[in-house]
Amino acid sequence: MPNLSFVSPTRNSPWGTYLSQIDAVEPYLGHLARWVETLRRPKRALIVDIPIELDNGTIAHYEGYRVQHSLTRGPGKGGVRYHPDVTLEEVMALSAWMTIKNAAVNLPYGGAKGGIRLDPKVLSLKELEKVTRRYTSEIGIIIGPQQDIPAPDVNTNGQIMAWMMDTYSMNTGATATGVVTGKPIPLGGSLGRVQATGRGVFVIGREAMRRLNVPMEGARVAVQGFGNVGSIAAKLFAANGAKIVAVQDHTGTILNESGMDMQNLLDHVAATGGVGGFKGADKIANDDFWKVKSDVLIPAALEGQITKERAEGLSTKIVLEGANGPTTPDGDAVLADRGIIVVPDVIANSGGVTVSYFEWVQDFSSFFWTEDEINVRLDKIITGAFKHIWETSEQHRISLRTAAFVVACTRVLQAREERGLYP
Ligand code: GLU
Repeated sequence: MPNLSFVSPTRNSPWGTYLSQIDAVEPYLGHLARWVETLRRPKRALIVDIPIELDNGTIAHYEGYRVQHSLTRGPGKGGVRYHPDVTLEEVMALSAWMTIKNAAVNLPYGGAKGGIRLDPKVLSLKELEKVTRRYTSEIGIIIGPQQDIPAPDVNTNGQIMAWMMDTYSMNTGATATGVVTGKPIPLGGSLGRVQATGRGVFVIGREAMRRLNVPMEGARVAVQGFGNVGSIAAKLFAANGAKIVAVQDHTGTILNESGMDMQNLLDHVAATGGVGGFKGADKIANDDFWKVKSDVLIPAALEGQITKERAEGLSTKIVLEGANGPTTPDGDAVLADRGIIVVPDVIANSGGVTVSYFEWVQDFSSFFWTEDEINVRLDKIITGAFKHIWETSEQHRISLRTAAFVVACTRVLQAREERGLYP
């Protein structure tokens, strides 16, 4: 899959997955297809070395990235991920999916993403702060409230955003709350931001179920990943009458055919760090998670989870992508053949960046909204975007994923064409 000289994606790797999604949308772009190559390469990618002194006195080096896939429709926007498997290729794909997501929801942003290859669980709080501050300083040459606005992603949170905001502000000489989103409330954070991605997954799931005549009451829901996204989504599904029958995270897989008590499970996870050992469900083998009978399956962990083999064994009606890139192209093809509806990441998990947008707007105007105002506006924006994507999919008889790409790529490439090529 030759595309760029500095990465070697395979068909089902994250960048390979993204490229195949662009191939799928190309026939639906009309005259804008002339510009499609723009989307197959990031505008800018920065690799930084992050040296820190560990608590034991040794010097450790970490590799960090910030990729700005597109700045065509506005500043870069997208999270920062801390994970031992982070690579440039992965961050490129995640940044490209941000371009598509922001355009699909019509937020005035391009797309960007960052990451550091490290295992945050083995670092002390002080070491984590040093890594975060040095990383922020290194990428400081390309981020800023008008340039590119990071946010939380896998293994990053409000505390890390606070350190990023402080570091950027110290370097520039003025407090810049708008440089990152997902901040703690006292530093210009927004009400509802922590819950926003999981809430958005629920809202879009509810809309998809309504369209497909799957009743919420008693619906069987299986969730992979019980972090910020999976846990909040599961809680909202349960609160609205669905049954959470299976949950999987890095500590194990649990099953309860009559539905788990979400408050008890959340308390267990808060106390032990994972779902493993939860008394209100049975432990099952990790591989068996993919065979659990459900109405809605929510992958809310990492990329590449729904492979061809797993897709062949799934017993569900709707795959609701809470994670970014959880379905491989081969998995997607099997699901399409089997008539299983995939609600793609770029709309299903767009609640997070939508409330990030609200946070950024509130920071600029220094005027803060109530949680109710935020949730009402979130619901309105993402259900409107979902409706547009659903209708596009019906109009062209294409998958929801390709339809989301049609809507998004049309917006990006239209802007590209109107701006023209410089020089
Ligand atoms: N990391 C989240 C995502 O993948 C949120 C990004 C943001 O708020 O900028 O959409």
